[in-house]
Amino acid sequence: TTRIERHHYDVVVIGAGGAGLRAAIEARLAGKRTAIISKSLFGKAHTVMAEGGAAAAMGNVNSRDNWKVHFGDTMRGGKFLNNFRMAELHAKEAPERIWELETYGALFDRTKDGKISQRNFGGHEYPRLAHVGDRTGLELIRTLQQKIVSLQQEDKRKHGDYEAKIKVFSETTITELLLDGDRVAGAFGYVRESGEFLLFETPAVVLATGGVGKSYKVTSNSWEYTGDGHALALRAGATLINMEFLQFHPTGMVWPPSVKGILVTESVRGDGGVLKNSDGKRFMFDYVPDVFRHQYADTEEEADRWYTDPDNNRRPPELLPRDEVARAINSEVKAGRGTPAGGVFLDIASRLTPAEIQRKLPSMYHQFKELADVDITKVPMEVGPTCHYVMGGVEVDPDTTAAHGRVEGLFAAGEVSGGMHGSNRLGGNSLSDLLVFGKRAGEHAAAYTDSLPKRPKPAAADVEAAVSAALAPLSRENGENPYTLQQDLQAVMGDLVGIIRREAELTDALKRLQELKRRVANVSAVGGRKYNPGWHLALDLRNMLVVSECTAMAALEREESRGGHTREDFPKMSPEWRQVNLVCALDGDDVVLERKPVPKMRSELITLFKRTELSKYLTDDELAEFDALSG
Ligand code: FAD
Repeated sequence: TTRIERHHYDVVVIGAGGAGLRAAIEARLAGKRTAIISKSLFGKAHTVMAEGGAAAAMGNVNSRDNWKVHFGDTMRGGKFLNNFRMAELHAKEAPERIWELETYGALFDRTKDGKISQRNFGGHEYPRLAHVGDRTGLELIRTLQQKIVSLQQEDKRKHGDYEAKIKVFSETTITELLLDGDRVAGAFGYVRESGEFLLFETPAVVLATGGVGKSYKVTSNSWEYTGDGHALALRAGATLINMEFLQFHPTGMVWPPSVKGILVTESVRGDGGVLKNSDGKRFMFDYVPDVFRHQYADTEEEADRWYTDPDNNRRPPELLPRDEVARAINSEVKAGRGTPAGGVFLDIASRLTPAEIQRKLPSMYHQFKELADVDITKVPMEVGPTCHYVMGGVEVDPDTTAAHGRVEGLFAAGEVSGGMHGSNRLGGNSLSDLLVFGKRAGEHAAAYTDSLPKRPKPAAADVEAAVSAALAPLSRENGENPYTLQQDLQAVMGDLVGIIRREAELTDALKRLQELKRRVANVSAVGGRKYNPGWHLALDLRNMLVVSECTAMAALEREESRGGHTREDFPKMSPEWRQVNLVCALDGDDVVLERKPVPKMRSELITLFKRTELSKYLTDDELAEFDALSG
């Protein structure tokens, strides 16, 4: 029999980004024995990469800001498809979570009078992002880790063991959740380096595994982001919502292939960088949508004057919202006006002096010099859209973060959960989301364990099945190569379920995903269990595949364009579709899709909006209800 190391915990948190760490702290504060599991090194998560800041309506820089304004901005950003209750809780609780971080030892940048400073960001009406220079995510993770260490020191004093109450299992990947009837009973996984198996017996699991970007070839996401949490939830009987909504950032590196997708900051355009196609044309002027026309310049002269005189000129079209710029770049490349590497040119070299570039954009200068051997003070960068963030995720109860569906004891917070951001996330709302719902997840997971009459127990047969599933790629000979399969999957998703979607391509994608599913069932990895990335990828593939299937199915079903979902054949937002959430579940191995109504905003929330604005989103019936409410 295969050796399995067994552990017993009250709460197991899968993921060590901001959401996971905040959840673990809360579970430990509630007195629970808590495990934190992380696929990569402890401290290396997407949260670390977040720069801009955490959105919280503290009103420090503009006293008119409050949770109601933040709530409104979030709903607007998500095009009113957000779960209103999540957006409400998020807006109300974010300031408290930020202040609390300072009690854990964080130090945010300050205003002149010593308050936490806040910066402007796209879609936020007032300066709202609490930040630490341009490395806010790093400070957030550092602080949460420090809090965990201080709790461990407390536990050492009390129980004689640092790890009595909270233990970190880094470089450990969970491949399966185990159930007892409909209740969570455990989690099974392997240690990356040794290949040893671990079984965590636990009544409560918090999923905090982040995003799904690795199903796309061009992505800002790193290797761990294969939608594991999304897939674990599905297989445990939970549901996913809004999986059609993905955020594509317009500017990622496209060359060389090894770094394709790495983010090129928006500041390059903010500081004067312009986008050009292979004919040398500044093409963004051709892509200003009617709703934005009065705010954006229609000549290069006016656009260029804006940088020095923003009051008397309109903004350059390079600074349109991210989804608009991403779509424009995509169209240029598809029309054959792209660069050799399949992007467009982002030119700062002809716009600023080399000294200015080095001073204003030092990290971009180094990024291109080191990774691409390109000197951006001399030649343009090559950039293209990159898959960045998934709005969709585990369908949860807004107050408790408990997963919907047939399963109990499963909670989800952070990027892996869905609903909060609707069809599009505002910058800065992710970091605050992690804190608000991470805390709630830890709290409610702990309370759930208290409510149980007896501990669920994983069945021996299920543990054996998890072991055989994990070993299958190693014991199969001459099966499919995992790297080839990943490339094929990424090609399907990038080419057919990318930024611009069409019915025929989505139908084709679903057919190809079915073929890939059959091939993935026959994947094999050479070598043994010790540090074997091919084996790990083989295990990740089935997660990527099922999550991709959800995205493609929902994208085919949703016949409108909204936020991070653009249908060329249905280019408009539809008030009827705004009332619909698309919910994915698993039936055996098959993904099934169901339409569920989007919960209606409570009257005191919907009346925060003006009728003129709501009329762009709501049906006539809904508007009549609104009129009745507001008298
Ligand atoms: P993450 O921080 O992504 O952590 C996920 C954790 O789960 C990791 O520890 C991972 O190892 C673990 N994990 C995954 N699968 C498994 C498994 N099977 N078993 C065990 N562990 C697993 N947002 C902003 O608000 N502002 C920004 O400026 C910003 N900039 C960004 C820049 C980049 C380059 C990227 C990629 C994202 C950026 N984002 C930004 C988005 C934001 O950083 C993420 O959405 C957020 O950090 C997600 O946090 P999380 O806690 O949900 O998960």
